[in-house]
Formats: sequence, C-alpha cells, structure tokens
Amino acid sequence: MRRALVLSAAVVLACFATAQIPGTAQVQRPAFDLLIRGGRIVDGTGNPWFVGDVAVAGDAIVAIGSALEPGAARVIDARNHIVAPGFIDVHSHSEERQDKQDVIGNPAAENNVRQGVTTVFASPDGGGSVQVGAFLKKVEEARPAINVGTFIGHGSVRGAVIGQANRAATPDELERMRSLVRQGMRDGAFGLSTGLFYVPGNYAPLDEVVDLAHVAGEFGGIHQSHMRDEAAGVLNSVRDTIAIGERGGLPTQVTHHKIIGKANWGKSVDTLRLIDEARVRGVDATLDQYPYTASSTSIQGGLVPQWAQEGGRTRMLERFKDETSRQRILLEISKAIETDRGGGDPANVVLAACPWDPSLAGKNLAQVLRDRRRPVAIDQAADLVVEIVEKGGCSAIYHAISEDDLVRIMKHPATMIASDASPGIPTFGKDVPHPRAYGTFARVLGVYVREKHVLTLEDAVRKMSSFPAWRMGLRDRGLLRPGMKADIVVFDAGTIADRATFERPHQYADGLSTVIVNGHVTFAAGQMTGDRAGRALRLN
Ligand SMILES: [Zn+2]
Repeated sequence: MRRALVLSAAVVLACFATAQIPGTAQVQRPAFDLLIRGGRIVDGTGNPWFVGDVAVAGDAIVAIGSALEPGAARVIDARNHIVAPGFIDVHSHSEERQDKQDVIGNPAAENNVRQGVTTVFASPDGGGSVQVGAFLKKVEEARPAINVGTFIGHGSVRGAVIGQANRAATPDELERMRSLVRQGMRDGAFGLSTGLFYVPGNYAPLDEVVDLAHVAGEFGGIHQSHMRDEAAGVLNSVRDTIAIGERGGLPTQVTHHKIIGKANWGKSVDTLRLIDEARVRGVDATLDQYPYTASSTSIQGGLVPQWAQEGGRTRMLERFKDETSRQRILLEISKAIETDRGGGDPANVVLAACPWDPSLAGKNLAQVLRDRRRPVAIDQAADLVVEIVEKGGCSAIYHAISEDDLVRIMKHPATMIASDASPGIPTFGKDVPHPRAYGTFARVLGVYVREKHVLTLEDAVRKMSSFPAWRMGLRDRGLLRPGMKADIVVFDAGTIADRATFERPHQYADGLSTVIVNGHVTFAAGQMTGDRAGRALRLN
C-alpha cells in the first residue's frame, strides 16, 4: 500500500514537472525533489568514490549520474564533500525505557542524526519488550527522525516465562518461549538478541538459546549476542556464539566485540581466528564494534555476580545482608574489578549516572572512596559497589579495553560499526554518559580513517551502511543506488570528527553537512530541520 502511494505521488510530480516546461510536453524528464550535486559518492559497497549527482524523488533515490538536470528540485551542493548512505546502527538501546531515554521519548534522535545515523535497531543484549508489534506501533506514533527496527530479546522472553529463576526451562516453558519468539518475528523483529552476560539470559543453557535462535532463523532473522563472557572466558563465549549460528541454522553475530581486562588483551587474535574458521566451514558469523576502549553498563549488571541477582532485587538485597553470601559477593566483585570490567583499578570504573545522587556522575570509584575518607583499595571499592546497588544503582563506564584489540577487530572484514547507545541516552547535558552516544560513527571516520589510517573511507562507510543493512535483511537501504530508500549523509571527510569525550560527553559530532531520511532533509546547515520522517521497519 505504501509503495503504491509513493509511486502515484511520483507520477503526479512527473506530470507537474513536464507541465512546467513550455514546449517540452513530449520530453520524458525525470522529476526530482532533491538533487545532491557534485559530491564524491561513496556508495556503500566499499568501492572507491566517484564524482556524481544523486537524485531523490519522494522517499527514494531515483537517479545517480553526472550533470543531472535539477528541474524544480531543491539542490544540495556537495562539491568536495562525501555523499554516502545513511549510517545503520545495529546495536541501539532504542527500546522503550521507564526513564524515557529512548527513541519514543526522544523522537528527534539528535545525537544519532548529528553523526549521520538514519536507522537503528533496538532491543539488543536480550532486552526490550516482547510485544514487538506494540513497540513498533508506539515508534510510529512517536514519529521519530530515524528509522527504527528491533530484535526480540531472549532475556525478556525468558523473564516473561520463567522470571529471574536460575534454572533450565521445562518443556512447557520452552514451548511458551518459542511461541513468544515466533510472535515477535511475525510482528516484524529482525532476529533474536541475547544477553547471556546479564540476568536472566545468563541462566539459560546453550541448548535453549540454540532452540530459540532456530525459531528466529525460520523467519529469516539473525542472532546477535552480548556474550556470556568478554574477559577471561571470551574464547569459549565466541565458540558459543558460533555454535548458536551453526546449530540454530541462522546468521550469528558477536555484538560490541571487545576484550575486557588487561590479562586478556591480545585474545582478539584468537577470537577473530575462530570467526574466520567458522566462516570457512560455512557459518555466517559476523561482528560489530564501537570505537572506544571503555564499555558501559550498570554497576549491578557489570560487577555483581549473576547468581547473587537470582530472583530479583529483594532477594539480592537479602543476600547482601547475609554475612556468608555477602563475603562471597564481595570477593567476586573484587575479582571483577581486578581482572575483568574494573580494569584492575577502582579509578577505571567511572559512574555515569546515579538517580539517587546525581553529584556522583563523572566520579570514579577511587574518587568516591577518597571523598568518603576511605582507603583506595579494591576490597573497599567492592564494598562501595554493594552500597551503590543497595541505594538504587548507577550506570558506569569501565576503562578496560586495549587499543590494539580495538584496531585488530575493526580491521576485520566481518566487523561492522554499532554504537550500543540510544537516542536520548542521555538526555542532552544530563549526567556523564559514555561518549559513544554522540560520537561513534564520526569517530570511526575522523580517528580511524583520517588520523590513524586503520580503514579506508570506503570500507568504513561499508561497515556503517551496506554491511549492517544486508546483515539485518534490509534490502532497500544501505547503498546509494536508484530504487533504494533515500537515507543519505553528506559530510566533509577532512573535518568529520567526534567531539564527545569521556570527561565532556555532551558534544555533537562535527563535519556533517546534510542528513536525509526517507527523502526528507532532517539536518542541514548545522541544524536539525524538525522534519521527522523515520519509519518503523519490519523484517517480514
Ligand atoms: Zn551489550
């Protein structure tokens, strides 16, 4: 129905255009709404740029060529600029959140648009609503500036059926989980996301995940995993992710691939070898990554052992009070600070947002200990972690990744770029969140293309456009080609840069000149236009 409407609109425009030109009524002249003229076209395939014009009518690219006649079209001068497909973020926390820091609460998605992102996929890490249809309807009602697709999250599915219990599913529960995944896929999800690091996904045996991934695969979906372990056990976790794809019979993706903890640095040599070996034997295994040496998640999710979280918050708080389990929990948190996400030093864990005490945002655990006149030591930091969780928790940033691993992973041909952030995370100016929300895509183009020459410009754009589009099953986006939807970015390759830092994250990227979503100019001349033309995307 939508396609038919677009076509008839195009026909009307064409008639209008020919009628405007006296004496040329017989000439078939294409009518364009927008003409992006004279740019270096990086089309998303990875091929070298070429100079040309890109013409848009309605929501689609209708012509690419040289010296196209603008007719009545609005002309965008792109000389000395790069014209590329809009960037696609396959790991976006755009799922609906209680604090409204999501795409429904922030439909302008300014932090996304201002780094060239035109499509996001919500509900990674096993999260988000199991009511995929209802979520996509809310997205449509919010009229976002960007396109939004979603996964169905395994953790949410398990939570809905089994709750926070640490046990295998009964056959009946497994069947109910299957039917939730099936319904989610029917309602338009692009695949199953898993968060096997998090509760309750962590409680699922591998067979359960394979079983549910298989259901998503039957609908053409993929599996994307925040793995059980990204530190000492990272190799086995990559093996598991590959096994889910191999046994489940669907494409499988290690999401935000990284190696956490100094003792594990360098293991990306082996994780990438595992991916290569899997691909050689026919498993469609791929990766995504954000270009930063720090991760971000809640203090509870990042540092409190999963067994201690079983049964929900009340049960967890009881365990904190019980002396025997408290000692065990403190020991495991100390270990996580020493060898895992804590980066070996309480100073490497920086609080990003604490709703119960906003003044803590931006302070690391060592600073908080000093403020309280307590010794700066790992066991003291573990104690502080328990106290923070008791008071209501914080989100945090963990500096525990090496640049060498980051670069090695980025260079791999099966790695695409994804932010792990969201529209509205954070609210502009509030707290001290991870800069990836503002900078991910611009940072790859500025730091890893222009400054460090890790990627060519064309390959970087491929990793942000056609590769994620085709990975997700989006066949009408991700390339600059006639017939594709008109999601287009224009930027200056010489100046594009992320400005958001860990200390001052609330800064938009530089160097973008125009962002077009479904044929609508969404960002131009340094400003959001207010046009919000994004759509809810469905796989089936
Ligand atoms: Zn994650």
